[in-house]
Order: sequence, then C-alpha cells, then structure tokens
Amino acid sequence: MMLRSVTGVCCLRRSIIGVRYVSSLVHNKAYIDGGWVEAQSGNVFPVNNPANGEVLSHVADMCESDTQTAIDAAHNAFVTWKTTTAKERSVLLRRWYELVETHKTDLAHLMTSECGKPLAEAHGEVSYGSSFLEFYAEEARRIYGEVVPSPHPSKEILFIRQPIGVASLITPWNFPIAMITRKAGAALASGCTCVVKPAEDTPLSALAIAHLAHQAGIPPGVFNVVTSSRANTPDVGKLMCTSPKVAGVSFTGSTAVGKLLYEWCSVGVKRIGLELGGNAVFIVFNSANVTAAVDGLINAKFRNAGQTCISANRILVQSGIYEEFLSSLKAAMMDRLVVGDGAKEGVNQGPLINDNQFRRVERVVSESVSCGAELVLGGHGHELGGLFYSPTILTHVNKHMPCFNEEIFGPIVAIKKFETEDEAITEANCTNHGLASYFYSQDVSQTWRVGRQLEAGMVGINEGLISCCEGAFGGIKQSGLGREGSRHGIDDYTYIKYLCFGGIN
Ligand code: ADP
Repeated sequence: MMLRSVTGVCCLRRSIIGVRYVSSLVHNKAYIDGGWVEAQSGNVFPVNNPANGEVLSHVADMCESDTQTAIDAAHNAFVTWKTTTAKERSVLLRRWYELVETHKTDLAHLMTSECGKPLAEAHGEVSYGSSFLEFYAEEARRIYGEVVPSPHPSKEILFIRQPIGVASLITPWNFPIAMITRKAGAALASGCTCVVKPAEDTPLSALAIAHLAHQAGIPPGVFNVVTSSRANTPDVGKLMCTSPKVAGVSFTGSTAVGKLLYEWCSVGVKRIGLELGGNAVFIVFNSANVTAAVDGLINAKFRNAGQTCISANRILVQSGIYEEFLSSLKAAMMDRLVVGDGAKEGVNQGPLINDNQFRRVERVVSESVSCGAELVLGGHGHELGGLFYSPTILTHVNKHMPCFNEEIFGPIVAIKKFETEDEAITEANCTNHGLASYFYSQDVSQTWRVGRQLEAGMVGINEGLISCCEGAFGGIKQSGLGREGSRHGIDDYTYIKYLCFGGIN
C-alpha cells in the first residue's frame, strides 16, 4: 500500500509510526469548538497498535478543565443549533455521511491499526458507522409531534419534541466509529450538541470522524471530541455527567462503569442512555439446520475476536444434535479462522485489544478448566505471541464457571448440552444481563414460543448478525436503558413538551 499524501498536517504524519495508509484524517489534538486543541497541561498519552505493540501516536490528554471548555462550547452552540431547521441538520448529516463513505479505506486502515480489528471488519464497521449518519439525516425530518383530542371545546392539546441540550457521549474501543455515529447522529438530528469522549485505546478513529464533521460544515461547538488517558478519564467522565450545562449522557461500555455514571447522573436527574455488557445465550435446538447454526455462531462469536457486547457467550446445544454440531463447529473453526495482524490479507481474527483483556481471557479459560470444563480446541495464547489468543472450544461447562457467568470478550466458545426447551429457557434467563440472545430452530411454533420468552432486548432467530441502523439496539436488566438506532434512538435526545392552547371560542 502506498503512503498517501498528507495535506497540511505533516507534523502529524511524522507522529504516526506503523500506519501504512496515512492521511489528513490523522490528528492528535482534541477537537473543541471547531478547532484542534492541545491539553492545557501539554500532556499526551500513547496510542498503541495491539497487533505489534508499536506506539502509533501520542494524543492530547485532556483533564477536567479542558473538558469544561468543550462543554461550554457545546452549550453555547446549542443556542443556535437548536433553532436550525430539520432540513438544515439533515443536509449536514448527509454531507458527513458522504465524507465518511469517501474516506472509507483510510478510516478502515486507521481503525485496524489502533483496535486490531481485521481490515474487512473495519471496512464493515465504517459502513455500519456511516449508516447511522445517513439514517439520522433522514430521521431528522421525521421527529413529529402529536395533536391530541381535547376534553374541552375551548382548548387544543399538542405535544412537540424538543432537543434536551448538550449530550455527553462516552464510547468504547470495540466499535471506535459506529458507537460515536450511532449516538451523535441521533443527537445532532434532534437538535442537541455533544461532547464525545472516546476510549483511551482508540482516540484516532474518533478524531478522524471529527475531521470529517468539520469538513462537512457541522458548526463549531456542535460536535466536540475530548481525548483523555485512563488516569484522567474518571474526572473527565464525572464532569460530563454532573456539569449543570449537560442535559444527558449516553454511554456504551462495561456495566460497572455504566452504574457509576448512572449514579453521577442521578445527582442532577440527567437523562441517561446505557448500552452495557451482555451475556448472550446462543441456543441450538434439535430441529436446527446445523450448517446454518454453525455459520451463525461463527458470525455471532468471532466478530472482533469475540470482543463485542452482543457476542454469543453461552452456547446451549440440545442433546439430539450435540455431537454433530460440536464436530461441525470444530471443523469450521479450524478451517476458517485465521489469526494474525488484521492489516494482513486473509486474517479474520486479530489481537485482543490490550494486556488487561488478554489476561482476563486467560483467566476465564484457566479457571473454567480447573472447575471441570473440557478443552476441545485452543485454550492458550496463540503461537504468534503478543495479544493473539487461539480460538477455543470449552465443553462440559456450567453456570458456576467464569466462561458462563462472565462476559468473556474473547474468542472462546463455551458449550453446554441440554435436554428440554424449558431447561434451555430457564438457563438462558438465569443472568442479570439481557442484551442479545440467539437461537436456531426450524420449528415455527418453537421460534415464536422461545422468541417471546427469552429475557433480552434483542433476539436473533436463525440469525447471528443482528446489528443495523434500522434495528432498535439495547438491552434489559443490567444490560442497559434506552435504545439506539432506529427511530427510537431519537428518544434519548428529545423531550416531549405539552402545549395547551386555551381561550378558543
Ligand atoms: P471496557 O472494559 O470495555 O474498556 P469501559 O466501561 O471501561 O469498558 O470503557 C468504556 C468507556 O468508558 C471508555 O471510553 C472509557 O474511557 C470510559 N470510562 C472508563 N472508566 C470511566 C469512568 N470512571 N468514568 C467515565 N468514563 C469511564
């Protein structure tokens, strides 16, 4: 791949090592009020390529007072942004979408370099990410109110939807672009302004998206990105939840951090949308098409090396189909999964994101094995070393093992055999989480029955890939509050105002 020419950001180009496809999208300062800003302290933090440990860049390490500047900018910008017409916001979002599409290849390479996601998946995520900008460009013009029959002849009752104000958006590393556009698309369409805090591992993709927002003509202060290190994040996050100038928070990440933000938001009774951890069940009933179920599991489990909140975590397989499913799955994993640097052609299993995640996966496997789980495949770091982990199958697992009662976030398939449908449903619902679940069955009655009974916000029925901008993404129980994507994604960023017109003769 050729090194691309860089327009006007030569210094940044030099600061990036190891990115083969460098472009003007690469920034290392925060984006506040339409400009690129260093931390007041001058501090920076490193961003690594998880495939080889190389330092890609050093990015501004913003603290609380830097973040206050961004919140102030968003608060000021709201005064005029909220008065723009839906059509004006729609046009800008559409332009942003088109620019993301134009720069798809650069964005994918940048994403692969900082989060390890294989290039084909990174391309997929850029498309998925841009789809939210396109969808909400369209949805902006359909944020309708209601006219309600009045109980009095002299009155008319109307509801209108209004933007809540400044939205704080805190996003994770596993979808460095899509989690931002899914939130920001809905926020901006609604007339809100926002401050984004991307994950410490993947700030470069967020800054690239900010660059394109700028080029699209999104006015200063409407979309801001504050980058911060792990050390500064708690202070930055707390301000983003408690500042009186912030009206609402949208967070995607771990349940533990989500609970903390929920607590902070309670102080000011702020709006909050939470997309938290899952513990997705994947059930294969006797009537399932085994080939389809294996394909579905590979899709639902191995995207991003298992590091997604809707990854299949607990695999339940009915006894009549168990042996056939297990051997087909093992063969498919050995045949199809290629571990390596995601930037290399043919690789579809990249590294885990960081040391913490790698150690966590190692612990989940070793503790499960010491509790009696049987290793059928893998079970160790990959021979490539570093953060690469071998695709693994564990069987004879139970709910007391970490591979079943924790969100694994790695390429581990943990399988349990079951006998009856009731047993599977009881097992599936025996968790505090309720984000996604999946099941395979060709029995029509069973698909409705089980679909109704699974306690989850999303159910894939004979389908392992359920994410799209049209879908209402979200969980129940401790997996979160609210929905993102679809027309319901607008709800977090708007409130209903009731207008009562009286004195009508
Ligand atoms: P993960 O375990 O997947 O990294 P986290 O919940 O830790 O998930 O991270 C998701 C996002 O939350 C990241 O942007 C991270 O910086 C942010 N975050 C982590 N801890 C805090 C905190 N105490 N306050 C605010 N944000 C936080």
